[in-house]
Amino acid sequence: MNILLKNIISVLSASCSSESSDIMIEHVSIDSRSSHNGAHTLFFSIIGPNNDGHIYVKDLIADGVGNFVVNYIPKGLEGKANFLLVENTLAALQQFAAYYRSLFHFPVIGITGSNGKTIVKEWMNFLLSPDFNIIRSPKSFNSQVGVPLSILGSNEKHNLGIFEAGISTVTEMEKLEPIVKPTIGVLTNIGTSHDEGFESTNQKIEEKLKLFKNAGVLIYKKVKTVDGLLPATIKKFSWSFEDNSAEVFISKIETKSQKSKIYYSYKGQCHDVQIPFEDMASIENAISCLLVMLYMEYDNATICARMSLLYPVEMRLVVKNGINNCSLIDDSYSSDFQSLKIALDFLESQNKFQKKTLILSDIFQSGLTDEVLYNQVAKLVVANHIQRVIGIGQTIAAFKDLFFNCITYPNTADFLDDFRNLDFSNETVLVKGARSFEFEEIVAVLEEKKHETVLEINLNALSDNLNFFKAKLQPDVKIMVMVKAFGYGNGGLEIASLLEHNQVDYLGVAFADEGISLKNDGIRLPIMVLNPESTSFSSIIQYQLEPEIYSLRGLNNFLKIAESKKIKNFPIHIKIDTGMHRLGFERKDIPDLIRILKTTDAVQVKSILSHMATSDDRTHYDFAKGQIQLFDELSTQMMEALQINPIRHILNTSGISNFPEAQFNMVRLGIGIYGVSNDPEEQKFLENVGTLKSIISQIRTIPAGDSVGYGRRFMAVQETKIATIPIGYADGISRGWGNGVGYVKIKNQKAKITGSICMDMLMVDVTEVACNEGDDVIIFGEDPTVVEIAVALHTIPYEILTSISQRVKRVFYR
Ligand SMILES: *Cc1c(COP(=O)(O)O)cnc(C)c1O
Repeated sequence: MNILLKNIISVLSASCSSESSDIMIEHVSIDSRSSHNGAHTLFFSIIGPNNDGHIYVKDLIADGVGNFVVNYIPKGLEGKANFLLVENTLAALQQFAAYYRSLFHFPVIGITGSNGKTIVKEWMNFLLSPDFNIIRSPKSFNSQVGVPLSILGSNEKHNLGIFEAGISTVTEMEKLEPIVKPTIGVLTNIGTSHDEGFESTNQKIEEKLKLFKNAGVLIYKKVKTVDGLLPATIKKFSWSFEDNSAEVFISKIETKSQKSKIYYSYKGQCHDVQIPFEDMASIENAISCLLVMLYMEYDNATICARMSLLYPVEMRLVVKNGINNCSLIDDSYSSDFQSLKIALDFLESQNKFQKKTLILSDIFQSGLTDEVLYNQVAKLVVANHIQRVIGIGQTIAAFKDLFFNCITYPNTADFLDDFRNLDFSNETVLVKGARSFEFEEIVAVLEEKKHETVLEINLNALSDNLNFFKAKLQPDVKIMVMVKAFGYGNGGLEIASLLEHNQVDYLGVAFADEGISLKNDGIRLPIMVLNPESTSFSSIIQYQLEPEIYSLRGLNNFLKIAESKKIKNFPIHIKIDTGMHRLGFERKDIPDLIRILKTTDAVQVKSILSHMATSDDRTHYDFAKGQIQLFDELSTQMMEALQINPIRHILNTSGISNFPEAQFNMVRLGIGIYGVSNDPEEQKFLENVGTLKSIISQIRTIPAGDSVGYGRRFMAVQETKIATIPIGYADGISRGWGNGVGYVKIKNQKAKITGSICMDMLMVDVTEVACNEGDDVIIFGEDPTVVEIAVALHTIPYEILTSISQRVKRVFYR
């Protein structure tokens, strides 16, 4: 991009703090960490629920960024840069994107709907890329911020745009419409997602349809609800399974062995096209793509040839376990520049290993010259601390010298031949390549042998849940996140890394060992140890962990060791017992505690805390208030006597929700971040984090009268189809969940657990489920939820989560 700052000032009707507006803007950014930030960057200081771009302005100026769109000029920075003052920085970004869009006149496909937007976008890109230079939204950038940023990636070389837009409530689409301004509109489908943001389904459809206000045509599935809401003026190009007044009538779908043949009639002629999928969602998404191609007047032979090659869209970046203890980030289906940026950012956030390798293919569709493109890639690589680049492809090989430590191969086969001579160990490897390079073969050789049962952890959901609770806190209140018991069973290091990336203030573990292992793996956040044994005090000091001290005995033991090591001001946390009666100093101990602390400078009271017994239970509200009051009183007594000003904290997850007045200076967030709430109302706002998955090992049909499993506890009353799944009580599935109490989900249908759960296996009834050996099985996640299982087993979700055995592999993704 090349736009004079003064033009932008006038587009935004901003008031500018300086005269030097002749500067050329080449790049727009909202991310303080972007490696593109520089003198010709215009930085929009976006204020979100959890972050405020204004706080980075000072550092960005120090890094040479000279132009900012702001709400106010941060203190002391007047005159230090060009500030464009606007009322709302997000609205300004959208306004600028709409202006930028108006500079380009190529066709734009705009996609919205409840599901399938990203898939349709990625497939359209695949289907049309032989003929166009396409700019599209990276990943699922479809939000109020994502859409403008997607559009701003356009340049003169592009001749087709494909953008998706997603909304969660009214008035959002009218802001996105002028930015996307689609010439061809695609409405994928209308489901129930985001229903809570609308008064009715009609209102939601109406809002979505606003995207197509100025579109030349709308492609959609013909249904009455949508037809009734469409303006008479819009040109329709619809499809239907039932209604043959649709422009494209789908007369028949034949599915067999993972393929479907779609029979359709169009302009009075019958055709068919085959796709390599058999599920209904993929079929409908493929039909949306078919209509775009028909509308663009592609002939049947081209449509068939291209659609037969449609592939599963990886919607997310997956971290896999690699050979020799490597971590593998698999992004092997795309190689455009924008998605490279996202993948590198993700790689940066994984600080499990210092050592990082990027395996990268030639990059297509950047719209830039190769020279400019690979220079930019080289810059990104440096900014993201990549130590080694393995380039695969003729073009990237030609630019090998731009990279510091780089080996190249002309093609994937040559790499695979040589790969045993390269060292891959104890590092994170990002595998990123265009589809034509078939990098899935590289992933296959680098990946550790797969386990059939995995606990998948959605790291985005974890961040979202963190933000949900952050939003409930007063501005200065700190957050400690409890990662004890291996992150409530979800995974210790990966979650701690993510929390460090998200800048929480403290981590909390139960025992010193847990803290030591996090420190050994490079976690730098301060870590409080809730339950330190006296025998671990030495290593606590050695590893700079911070003990919770809850008794005079513990304090004296710790002081003895600290003083013998001549340590000064070692941070400790004083726990007060205000009614939980588990650990902590009582009222009667406080004078002695104060006396001892006054005589030593070996330790420093970093914080004072207590723990609530009933923060989740309204029936004990008065008791809870009493605990808070006593905490306030005793901690105040200590602060006055010792003349200190420590962090004070008492609230756990339920406390954050139920006692907002008692946040003091910090809260300790636990179960909530893992997506589980003790309150059904709050549960609706949390995202599921862990999904326990397995597969079907074997399927058999047994006649009426036969039994299943130990003790013959299941007797078939009719012919019954039984599937065996390789997960049992040794993996943490309680036997109480067997014998018809519990169920698993297969192909989105319930399958009851039949008979007793075995040590390593369980059997389910799949008589009504069309399934095959090898199919995926959901043990828990969205459905059934751990809350539901906990209720059935008369326990709490905490126990279900932390029971999942360590032999179950954890796989992290976002
Ligand atoms: C586990 C724990 C928490 C977190 O509790 P949640 O209910 O999971 O939020 C907070 N404080 C202490 C002392 C804990 O042991």
